[in-house]
Amino acid sequence: MPVRMAVPKELVSGERRVALDPMMAERFAKLGVDMLIEKGAGASAFFADDAYAKGCRLVEDARSLYAEADVVFKVQPPTLDEVELLRDGTVLLGILQPHRNLDLVRRLLDKKITSFAMELIPRISRAQSMDVLSSQAAVAGYKVALLAANLTSGFFPMLTTAAGTIRPSKVVIVGAGVAGLQAIATCRRLGAMVEAYDVRPAARQEIESLGAKMIDTGVSAAGEGGYARELTAEEKQQQANVLARHIAAANAVITTAAIPGRAAPKIVTTAMVEGMKRGAVIVDLAAESGGNCELTRPGETYEHNGVIIAGPLNIPSSFPVPASEMYAKNLFNFLSPMIKDGALNLDWNDEVIAKSALTREGQVIHEPTRALLAQ
Ligand code: NAD
Repeated sequence: MPVRMAVPKELVSGERRVALDPMMAERFAKLGVDMLIEKGAGASAFFADDAYAKGCRLVEDARSLYAEADVVFKVQPPTLDEVELLRDGTVLLGILQPHRNLDLVRRLLDKKITSFAMELIPRISRAQSMDVLSSQAAVAGYKVALLAANLTSGFFPMLTTAAGTIRPSKVVIVGAGVAGLQAIATCRRLGAMVEAYDVRPAARQEIESLGAKMIDTGVSAAGEGGYARELTAEEKQQQANVLARHIAAANAVITTAAIPGRAAPKIVTTAMVEGMKRGAVIVDLAAESGGNCELTRPGETYEHNGVIIAGPLNIPSSFPVPASEMYAKNLFNFLSPMIKDGALNLDWNDEVIAKSALTREGQVIHEPTRALLAQ
């Protein structure tokens, strides 16, 4: 019998993405699996029930959906009530954030759910097409640049008009990972002059290839696996001294700096904000993990001494069509190599499968989560 893969409506307040778009539904169906989707699951991402007709069977409610499901696709972690509805042994995929959801992990263990936290997919070349962190960060980086352009008091591009020439905005981007690079590219397309900064030396080439200027603070902090490490107090001071000058001259500052598994580094101090031009803006993409700016209030946009500070949350959800399409494609690229004749055979010898697994048959596979549960 073909494996039944099911997609419920997301329940987290404000979440507009859905884990499957109509095109990927069709592609999964072509592999011989049975695709099921809860009625209205795609509505907040503008995918009507009818659009799924070619690939999926519509199911009235989540209870009936889970009663049939062998595999469940989620974006956000399921609620504990949702887990109660899963059949024992179901395979669950989602952005599960186990460190924030230990009670959920315990319930997944009780119910012998095989779960994959898609954010744990290793960042190796072969897995790039499955990398949900990258796909959602690309969406966020684009959106955050538009947000900055919208909130700032000036034009991003240079404008030559009958009333005179208007100088382009100066934008400073802190953190040039996936989101930061997408923000640089978007601000450049809008015509702004862009300077960017990252502690990883490898970022220089990427920043410059997008037509932006690297701010050189003399601090290098390449850590394990291509990520950044935390800076020492002296390094932070050196970084701050140089950045303060560039931030004071900027019309917009976009911050995207992160260290995996930790609170976001505080990079833009209150004094730096107070040294900024009136009408300038800071958009802090790191608001979700505490913010890169000392004055960020997660989820709020407000003014401090004439500077607008925005701390938007869950930005990919505010652009639900491409975010859902890219997420669904990541899931397809992850699962499809293991589907043969409508059956799913998980290959536990595959590094990508083994490293993205959170729980399996009552055991925690992800070592850091096991350590947290033991505390
Ligand atoms: P991230 O979201 O963890 O961090 C964003 C950026 O913030 C990073 O570039 C980081 O260096 C920077 N940062 C951290 N502390 C900082 C500080 N104090 N000051 C300034 N910047 C700071 O990172 P990410 O965007 O997910 O990606 C990080 C790395 O992984 C990059 O090298 C990226 O190219 C690489 N990557 C590789 C693959 C792959 O090979 N499959 C996929 C995606 C990303």
